[in-house]
Amino acid sequence: MKVENLAACPTVDVEDDRTGLSIETLRRALADNLFYVQGKYPGTATKNDYYMALAYTVRDRLLQRWLATREAYDKQDVRIVCYLSAEFLLGPHLGNNLVNLDIYEPIQRALTESGLDLDELIAQEEEPGLGNGGLGRLAACYMESLASLEIPAIGYGIRYEFGIFDQEIRDGWQVEITDKWLQYGNPWEILQADIAVEVKFGGHTEFYANDQGEQCVRWLPNYTLKGIPYDTPILGYHVNTANTLRLWKAEASESFDFQRFNQGDYYGAVDDKTAAENLTKVLYPNDEQVQGKELRLQQQYFFVSCSLQDMIRIHLAEGNRLETFHEKFAAQLNDTHPAVGVAELMRLLVDEHAMPWNTAWYVTQRTFAYTNHTLLPEALEKWSLSLFGRLLPRHLEIIYEINQRFLEQVRQQFPNDVGRIAALSLIDESGERYVRMANLASVGSYAINGVAALHSELVKSTVLREFHELWPTKITNVTNGVTPRRWMVLSNPQLADLITSKIGHSWVRQLGELRQLEAYVNDAEFCAAWQQVKLANKQQLAQRILNLTGIEVDPTSMFDIQVKRIHEYKRQHLNVLHIITLYNRIKENPAQEIVPRTFIFGGKAAPGYFLAKLMIKLITSVGEVVNNDADVAGRLKVVFLPDYNVTNSQPVYPAADLSEQISTAGKEASGTGNMKFSMNGALTIGTLDGANVEIREEVGEENFFLFGLTVDEVMALKAQGYRPNEYCDRNPNLQKIIHQLSSGVFSRGDQNLFMPLVDNLLYQDPYLLCADYQAYVDCQDQVSQAYAETDRWTHMSILNTARMGKFSSDRSIRDYGETIWQVQPVPLTLKDYVQADAGLRVDQSWV
Ligand SMILES: *Cc1c(COP(=O)(O)O)cnc(C)c1O
Repeated sequence: MKVENLAACPTVDVEDDRTGLSIETLRRALADNLFYVQGKYPGTATKNDYYMALAYTVRDRLLQRWLATREAYDKQDVRIVCYLSAEFLLGPHLGNNLVNLDIYEPIQRALTESGLDLDELIAQEEEPGLGNGGLGRLAACYMESLASLEIPAIGYGIRYEFGIFDQEIRDGWQVEITDKWLQYGNPWEILQADIAVEVKFGGHTEFYANDQGEQCVRWLPNYTLKGIPYDTPILGYHVNTANTLRLWKAEASESFDFQRFNQGDYYGAVDDKTAAENLTKVLYPNDEQVQGKELRLQQQYFFVSCSLQDMIRIHLAEGNRLETFHEKFAAQLNDTHPAVGVAELMRLLVDEHAMPWNTAWYVTQRTFAYTNHTLLPEALEKWSLSLFGRLLPRHLEIIYEINQRFLEQVRQQFPNDVGRIAALSLIDESGERYVRMANLASVGSYAINGVAALHSELVKSTVLREFHELWPTKITNVTNGVTPRRWMVLSNPQLADLITSKIGHSWVRQLGELRQLEAYVNDAEFCAAWQQVKLANKQQLAQRILNLTGIEVDPTSMFDIQVKRIHEYKRQHLNVLHIITLYNRIKENPAQEIVPRTFIFGGKAAPGYFLAKLMIKLITSVGEVVNNDADVAGRLKVVFLPDYNVTNSQPVYPAADLSEQISTAGKEASGTGNMKFSMNGALTIGTLDGANVEIREEVGEENFFLFGLTVDEVMALKAQGYRPNEYCDRNPNLQKIIHQLSSGVFSRGDQNLFMPLVDNLLYQDPYLLCADYQAYVDCQDQVSQAYAETDRWTHMSILNTARMGKFSSDRSIRDYGETIWQVQPVPLTLKDYVQADAGLRVDQSWV
């Protein structure tokens, strides 16, 4: 069909229904999407249909910016950051897109005029829970900040059909429910079937001679899958940049189907299809703990191969040579999950694009940068050689080759240093042999960073010590951050409005400007308004708690909150020891004055992590006793909020008085929950761990409740031989609690239920709860005193928010941009695709 004569269509002087922002246009667009996309009219439309119609209305306005962004990047051949991450914990898109598009209020008014409620429609969205916790959420904050700073970026990851499980609490225990986030369709993604790629697995390799008679390697795989990209536009705040998040779904490749079909094996072909799709079926629900499952390595290799092939396609399509690949892209490895990319880029360049090894290695080493996220031994990825070689035979050869060349270099620098060679080797040969992914990432990258100052120092002195000695400038620090758009403007609108009423709105993109709030700490009217906002947020959370758990809590009590993945190192059970301490004080003297507290917990335990699941049962069991004891008289309440995720977390941070950041020093790489709390005016009780150290530096030590052993003290104690039972023997309160737990006081007389936790504390206590117990309780007593002095507390709360500028993810991204990526912003002006051309004008044949 020739369509030039569409250009002759009359243009009418009205707003375009897909880009216009007037109330009238928005209402018409909503109706249009309801009828023509959802296929519903008001008589049959469900709440979800209205959500979808609204989402498409917003998406239309996004697409104009996304297309302009892509066109500009193509035409200008810009340098692009590729953020490779197995997890993106995005949270719901709708509210965030309304904020960033600056159409929250017009949409709200358009809906109200149509008899609809925006909050209810926002609540309809099933969040893409494509991550476990902090690491995945960081990737989401970084994508938002990259777009807000107008930096060209592509996020590459996996489109899991089932994200992190939904959590229900039954009889006080966690129950896992499948997350069916795609069941009603996903209006935010765009299928890009035309740029699908193929990924090989298994089989073997062989030598062959090319046309020039050179020896080359060919990989003859067992099977091939197809990677299908789904794109989600990620819009920046009040800018025209909308970057791409490209997530890959696995399908059977057509060539494979074809063979089976030709053999008449219709059902066999369909079976293959199903088996292929298993690869991206489900997210592994482990945080900070690896399982070494083959499917997980398949997932990692699959998304990395798809992404690198896509990058090569983009680079070549712009007429470039692969020798300049590293000038076009900075590829950030979010932990070691995508580290196999080092071997895959070598394979693509050497085997598939006939590049000499040395050139390919030069390019590869200048393409990747690696972020280390953990020091926990159980979280360091390694793959047994047999598994790795079976799935990726060519990559194992390449890793051996890289290793041989690398270690040869090391031997020259450190002759006869066997221990050093063993530590640096990409292969762990101490027992069963493994490929060490952190070593592969370190050798294959031009930069390595930790995620908080303390963590980066520990990376240098522990896990990557020998690498640091080899390359003293390669390991640097980029402290994590969170986006103030989602974590303040969207989730705490009342606080955002109060701040803006005093200092204007530029703080949203320049978070350092919050410092201006310091001028108001002694302004009685401002302090009263600050308290009022906190109280309103607490009232809203109290209502949610009542709806979700049936527990009634007092919004004037101190909201003492610990929300994060459940893990021994995060020490939710230390928090419980404090709760029982207060409970025992009341039981010993019911009349004594205490500062009323509501203890709120939330978080998921990995389904196979027995002790973490028992910690949830401990929290709910202690709650059952405390909440229903007449002597307590409602002064203490313990709540476990089910299904902690981004959606459910958004009302939590703004309602907190006290933020619990109590990990054993040296175990939490950074933490980002700590930042969200503090930004929203909560005070922190915390150890000198991760970013707590820097938060305390920023807000001032007088505005932070510090307790516990330092990293050095932890190391010294462990070195001298830690005996937790000695701490218990010396501490009657702790002894009593241990006795209560083992005698069934909190388990309806069951003396066995909490034995695994009690035994762990008494005889191992790897996270030093017993050593930190008394310091924690003492510090909590100071917290209570401070809370009783309302004005002093408010003062401290305001200063916490005012001094959190450093922890915007905009600052983190600027750090990465300047010190690691060397990228420049690309500001964009908008064009109107439909109106500007007055219709399609096809001036080339179809591609
Ligand atoms: C911020 C966030 C986390 C990380 O919390 P930490 O306290 O840093 O462990 C985990 N999950 C969700 C849903 C979050 O929003």
